[in-house]
Amino acid sequence: PTVFDVQRIRADFPLLSRTVHDKPLIYFDNANTSQKPASVIEAVDDHYRRHNANVSRAVHQIGEEATAAYEGARDKLARFINATSRNELVLTSGTTQSINLVAYSYALPRLKPGDAILTTVMEHHANIVPWQLMAARTGATVKAAPIDERGELIVEKYIEMLTPEVKLACVTHVSNVLGTVNPVREIARECRKRGIPLLVDGSQAVPHRPVDVQALGCDFYALTGHKMLSPTGTGALWARKEHLEAMPPFFGGGEMIREVRFDGTTFAEPPHKFEAGTPNIAGFVGLSAAIDYYHSVGFDAIHSWEQQLLAYATERLREIPGLRLVGEAKEKEPVISFLIEGAQATDLATLLDLQGVAVRSGHHCAHPLMQFFKVPATLRASLAFYNTREEVDAFITALLKVRKLLM
Ligand code: PMP
Repeated sequence: PTVFDVQRIRADFPLLSRTVHDKPLIYFDNANTSQKPASVIEAVDDHYRRHNANVSRAVHQIGEEATAAYEGARDKLARFINATSRNELVLTSGTTQSINLVAYSYALPRLKPGDAILTTVMEHHANIVPWQLMAARTGATVKAAPIDERGELIVEKYIEMLTPEVKLACVTHVSNVLGTVNPVREIARECRKRGIPLLVDGSQAVPHRPVDVQALGCDFYALTGHKMLSPTGTGALWARKEHLEAMPPFFGGGEMIREVRFDGTTFAEPPHKFEAGTPNIAGFVGLSAAIDYYHSVGFDAIHSWEQQLLAYATERLREIPGLRLVGEAKEKEPVISFLIEGAQATDLATLLDLQGVAVRSGHHCAHPLMQFFKVPATLRASLAFYNTREEVDAFITALLKVRKLLM
């Protein structure tokens, strides 16, 4: 295995050196939100100290600096996911807004009674509820492709369910609960054969692997910044140019128009057509710095380290008596859900917190997935490349200790 200087990386993340309840923090809640490197925090700070102005509305120097920084983030993010053009990237507040934009601007005007939207049982609510809202308004239905006991999508079923009524297919790239990586390329290929556009929820993929939207072959790709080292309230929707051109605007207001007249307003070209109002400029300045940070470490190194940690943590968890892993897909990102017989997930998480360990307990915004596994909640340890084997060891020790307290 390659040498990965995790201690040097950890030194870049100020929050990782703090304590919680007088214990060193072990932050295993990365699927919820990631920590931020100093370079991101400093970029935001520098923006407000030296370059703060509104974008696109001023010809003065700092206005131009702010605009260049904001539009520079779009360029960087476009290259980061290999979009063919910067104009295919709508900057949003996160995945939720990105998917809702597709729901209201793409799906709503097209759906008719009898149409369907296909999603899956393993989705985050953000890739279920917007479709239910659109179905309720249009008389369309929402279908959910099944998964198996290992937490893998039953791909043949998904493909079988791509019937002519389906006007939009949706799938998460990586499950936020199980870590399962879905075969998006294969799904996209099948969707294209049938002329069905595919939306991919990339929230949990982008932080872990290089994403190439062209190679994936999907139509829409939604992502969120705060899980990828960036400030909260940042995200994007990548969409093929022809879709963005055909979609009416969702929010109206300043910045998204060409000319406003009471006898007929005309709109800006995409992506600006979808960016009404003042955006989270400082947030995207931070996102720019986050992408630089990913490049400085490199996804090869990140992937290899995270996969080592995932394998190690999974193996150590198996040592714990009465522990049940939820989701054992062949290909995973470093997210591990589990339960311990005889103990409530929330009680375990509360006691783990007293040991300095931050994990999430609950339904993880995936009720249908919990229903499938017939559990009300799971504990979820989600790792990042700045975590260590020693933290995994300390987590296991803490887990054994709190388990005893509850038995
Ligand atoms: N989809 C997935 C798979 C997620 O993990 C999340 C965040 N938990 C979201 C969507 C929603 O992202 P956001 O809250 O940043 O809009």
